[in-house]
Amino acid sequence: MAPVLDCGPLMAARILDGKSLAAQVRSALKKEVEALSQRGIRPGLAVILAGDNPASRVYVRNKVRACEETGVRSDLYELPATVSEAALLDRVLALNDDSAVHGILVQLPLPKQIDPHRVLETIAPAKDVDGFHEANLGALVAGEPRMVACTPAGVMRLLEHAGVALGGAHAVVIGRSNIVGKPLALLLLQKDATVTICHSKSGGLGALARSADVLVAAVGRPKLVTGDMVKPGACVIDVGVNRLSDGSLCGDVDFAAAAAVAGSITPVPGGVGPMTIAMLLENCVRAARAMR
Ligand code: NAP
Repeated sequence: MAPVLDCGPLMAARILDGKSLAAQVRSALKKEVEALSQRGIRPGLAVILAGDNPASRVYVRNKVRACEETGVRSDLYELPATVSEAALLDRVLALNDDSAVHGILVQLPLPKQIDPHRVLETIAPAKDVDGFHEANLGALVAGEPRMVACTPAGVMRLLEHAGVALGGAHAVVIGRSNIVGKPLALLLLQKDATVTICHSKSGGLGALARSADVLVAAVGRPKLVTGDMVKPGACVIDVGVNRLSDGSLCGDVDFAAAAAVAGSITPVPGGVGPMTIAMLLENCVRAARAMR
């Protein structure tokens, strides 16, 4: 099948509904958690929240709630903003040794006195449900993914579910973070897309974006991607989550303008965000299955 190219410019884009797909994923996981629990293995996620960043608190609350709904046990460790790096590392080491804990998530950002890299590298790779450990990133580079970062995994699941053809398609990923842009580019490459990664020093962003059959924005700048940066019929994935001054949420894509040109597009909210949490649960259940 050819990449998604054949929708006319006036056709409204198909909305890629991450909320609904995430609900399907969670419902399937719930059944698997029940089956595992009947065999004495209840998947368990430990979440460490250090400090009082309000956005982090909301993210953690959503993750814990999703665990509860799916039957995954969640243990929340709230540490003060003044916690020392040594104390945090001790907590991670204890969780590594706890056989009832299958996944460990350390919510970022961490307080200034703590080196996030050292903390993430201390998590046992098999329990690294965020997929940030170098062993897991290395496995992805080697083309043998183990624990894959949740947001890129969620984007790939959305693309797969929507039937977006990736083989030979030009995928342009705007953003090169270790959390989203780079792992997503590797996953797209693994599916035989021709991948271009753009960042803040990239020249000619508009022309690069316009050449994309699959355009991903993972930047953190409201409406960076305008309608004229979208190739007619392209699939547009908006990873960005930006809080505007009126309190509303907005992606990195000018949704209305892009949707008038694109073949398919993810909304914000309700696109990539719910898929990220669904993939976190999936990683946790997979870890429990592997450790049984
Ligand atoms: P990040 O670490 O800040 O990375 C942002 C990337 O965007 C960097 O690579 C940066 O380039 C690039 N960039 C900045 N300005 C640019 C410009 N004008 N043109 C092109 N590239 C530019 O952010 P992140 O953690 O990847 O997150 C990106 C966005 O996704 C944020 O809005 C975040 O909230 C959101 N997010 C959403 C989810 C979800 O579940 N929906 C999950 C994670 C993140 P340089 O490398 O050159 O600085």
